[in-house]
Formats: sequence, structure tokens, C-alpha cells
Amino acid sequence: MASQVKFLDTTLRDGEQSAGIGMTVEEKMQIARQLARMKVDIIEAGFAASSPGDFEAVSRIANEVEGPIICSLSRAVAGDVDAAWNAIKGAKKPRIHVFLSSSEIHQMHQLRKDREDVMNMAVDMVSRAKGYCDDVEFSPMDATRTNRDYLYRMLEEVIKVGATTINIADTVGYAIPSDFQTMLNDIQQNVRGIENVTLSVHCHNDLGLAVSNSLAAIEVGARQVEGCINGIGERAGNASLEEIIMALDTRKDFFGVDLNVDTTQIYPSSRLVSRITGMNVQANKAIVGENAFRHASGIHQDGVLKDRSTYEVMKPERVGLPPDVQLVLGKLSGRAGLQARLETLGFSLDREEVTGVYQRFLELADKKPEITDRDLEILMDEENRSTSEPVTYALETVHFTSGDKDIPTATVRLIGPDGETRTDASTGNGPVDAVCRAIDRVVGTTARIEDFQVQAVTEGRDSVGSVTMRIENSGRIFTGRGANTDIIVASAQAYLSAMNRMLAADEEAALPAVGTTPD
Ligand SMILES: [Zn+2]
Repeated sequence: MASQVKFLDTTLRDGEQSAGIGMTVEEKMQIARQLARMKVDIIEAGFAASSPGDFEAVSRIANEVEGPIICSLSRAVAGDVDAAWNAIKGAKKPRIHVFLSSSEIHQMHQLRKDREDVMNMAVDMVSRAKGYCDDVEFSPMDATRTNRDYLYRMLEEVIKVGATTINIADTVGYAIPSDFQTMLNDIQQNVRGIENVTLSVHCHNDLGLAVSNSLAAIEVGARQVEGCINGIGERAGNASLEEIIMALDTRKDFFGVDLNVDTTQIYPSSRLVSRITGMNVQANKAIVGENAFRHASGIHQDGVLKDRSTYEVMKPERVGLPPDVQLVLGKLSGRAGLQARLETLGFSLDREEVTGVYQRFLELADKKPEITDRDLEILMDEENRSTSEPVTYALETVHFTSGDKDIPTATVRLIGPDGETRTDASTGNGPVDAVCRAIDRVVGTTARIEDFQVQAVTEGRDSVGSVTMRIENSGRIFTGRGANTDIIVASAQAYLSAMNRMLAADEEAALPAVGTTPD
């Protein structure tokens, strides 16, 4: 049994699909590059056949990101397998990941096909994938609710035609650790040829057990685990990759397995994914939460000051947290200091880029003597927005009146795609509502606000407000962000940024429709 556990990160596929974030290709590239720095073994870059945008993202990642194996998901249909290959063929280490429902529930209700037909589809499509590339992963979807004998036979057949990784997906988050171990033991005992391939697991967190189930699987021989940074993903999310990694790293005495991953890149990866997806990490989240290494009790603080190991099972530096989280930068901080700090937050810049950012940093430092990590993230967001976000409409001015006796009213002026400015106004039940309605009037479409979060970036009354807004239109969700000392202005920026993403997606949607997305 190999003693190395491989990590397949599916933040860009399972994570993206669920969060409904509508990441741009450029944003996906940023995440993929960071995952490569973190040395994950495999990046599942997307589901190439699902949309032209996904195809482009997978293909660019395959061509430009070096180090990890680059993988595309594919349904067990010829067109999907072909699209997956076309997207990843530029990679140094390409992989096609074919999935198909193995449970009767899914076959009857979703695929509407009989069991032998499904078996043939699996065999045919794994063979087809194998014709393109040697590295082929196969996932029986909803495996944990599948008839065992049928599952064993299906796995044997796909191994015979060349599958190199078999991934047991607990698609609906139904498994319990000890029960899951029994199932994996049974598979290893009953499937001929399984000893020659990598056994993988893909766990969902519906019962809060995704990480536990993944670790339980490793104990009994799984040598690949799939998951997402910060545990994002469909419904309650996927297994949190960083939690599994740190459990294996911290309890090497117990698991006794090796990892390729650079654990010090965990924190930068977490910050980057949180920022791009607009999905905040809960403060008490293990490993990457804001409080993960904070000690509140007096007795604990006293112990930690004497020796950190008294109340910490791992060092913050091990996950890439700077030793002094409270460190602030100021006017006198040099370029190198700025660059090092930005790297901790998941931004890696070349020398020329640092020079550009440094100028903005000095301007900010003139207004605000102490610059924190959150200030830097906002600064970088502004810097990046112009390059990584679609801009159909740009916000020129926003004006509003409001109060407990007034009718909230807003006027906005936007610069349209043709370069012309357009102005309109609206009332609303509050200033944010009025601003959004005014933007709707200029853009000529509308969306429902599904989630609206305002956060003070730093402490103090003069703090910048950061707004994250998720909007919904015909079942699709888009996220936008904005930052300003005035939260109404920040809201206008966030709403417009989400609208721009929606408009860009509308253009793309003129192309063929997406099939059933997996999970
Ligand atoms: Zn999944």
C-alpha cells in the first residue's frame, strides 16, 4: 500500500458549481495558480462540457498552470469525454474524470435507464477516455446508496478497461465513518483489480461528517481524497481540504502517511478563495477561521505566552498564518515588506506589479496610518477588479437622499458599453433599494438580491465598509463586491459588479444549454 495520500482539489468544479459564484476565467486562474503553489496533487479545473466558459477556464489552466495533474470532469457520454480531452490536452499531466450514477434511485429517477445500459455506458466511456489519456478517474455517483454486488461489478469492469483511480463518492453526505470504512474494506476485498488502482473518496458534509469520513477512509487504505478549500461546495459543502491536510500533518504519528502539500500555503489559499467567492469563513472554523489560533481564556493565554504548545496542537506558521496576526504596515514599510505580506494573503506579484501596488499603498498610507491585512485585501481587490472582472457598465456617480421622514431616492450615472453616460433615478424602501432600482433602470434588467453582507474592514468609525452582494436571476446566482467608507456607495458598486457578471453570462448563455450537473 502506497503511503502517500494525494489531494484532488475541486474548488473550481464542485465548489464553484454550488456557490453559484460565476467566477471569471481570470479568477479561476488565480485560484489554480495558488493551488499549484500549495502543491495539491490534482486540480479538478472544471466540467469542460458544461459551458464554453468552463471549457475556456479548464483549457487555460491546463495550458498555463504547472505542477499538479489537471483534470476535467465528464459525464459518461461521448461528447463530454471529447470536450474534456480537448480542454485538458495541453496539460503536462492530463486526467479525465468520468462519473455516472450507480444507485438505483439515481438510475431510475434521473438517468431513466436500466442497469445493464448504465454498466455499458460506464465501460464505453472509460475506454473512450483511455483512448485519449492514460490517467482516467471513474466515480460511481451516489455510491454509498448503491447495491453492492452491482457496484463491485461496475468497478471491476471499468478497471479492466483502464480506469486508474476509483473514486467513491458520498454524493449526498449519507455516510458514517465506521460504516464507510466497512464499505471501503468490502470494496477492496470484493473488486478484482482494485489493488492496482488508487482508491479515492469524495465526501459531502450534509451531516457534518465529510472530514471525518475522509480520514476514516484514509485509515483503511484510500490514497486520494477530494475536497474544497474552506469546505465550500454543494449544499453543506465538500470536505474541507485544509482540515484533512492538517489532521494528517498534525497526527502523522497516527496516520503515518506522507503528503506533497505545502501546508504553509493553506492560509493564503483560504483567503483567496473566500475573497473571490464572497463566501466568508466562519470565525470558529478549524484551521483557517479568524479565531482558530486566538486564546480568550486567561489561563490559556497565560499558558500560550509561556509556551505555545500548552494549548495549541499546531503552530500558526505551519498553516501559513503570520506569527503576528496583528501586524500592521505603514508609510515606512518598504516594498519587500509589502510584497511578503501580500503573499501571506494569497497574492503573488512580480516586481513590476509590486511597483504599481506600492504606489497605491503609499496613497492609502497617507490617509490611514495603520494598514491592516483587510485594508490590503481591499486595495488588491480594487487593483484586480479592472483586470479580472467583466465591465459592461461602470459606475460614474451615485447620489441619494434618505432619512426616517424622507422617501429614499437615488440617482446613478453609469458609463455604458458604448462609452456613453446614462443617468436615471428611482425611489425605494431604503437607500440601497433605491440605488439598485436606479441601476436596474439604466441597465434595463433586474435581479433579486439573495444575500447582502456589510462588513467593517477594520475597527473604528472611519473604517471602510466592504459589501458582498449575491443576486439571483432565473435560478442563476452572481456575486459582486464593493468597498467604500460610505456603505451605500459600496452597495452600488457591489450590485453593479454582480450585474456585470450576469450580463457577461447572458452573452455566453446564447450558446448550448448545460446538462445535469453532478455533485
Ligand atoms: Zn461533490
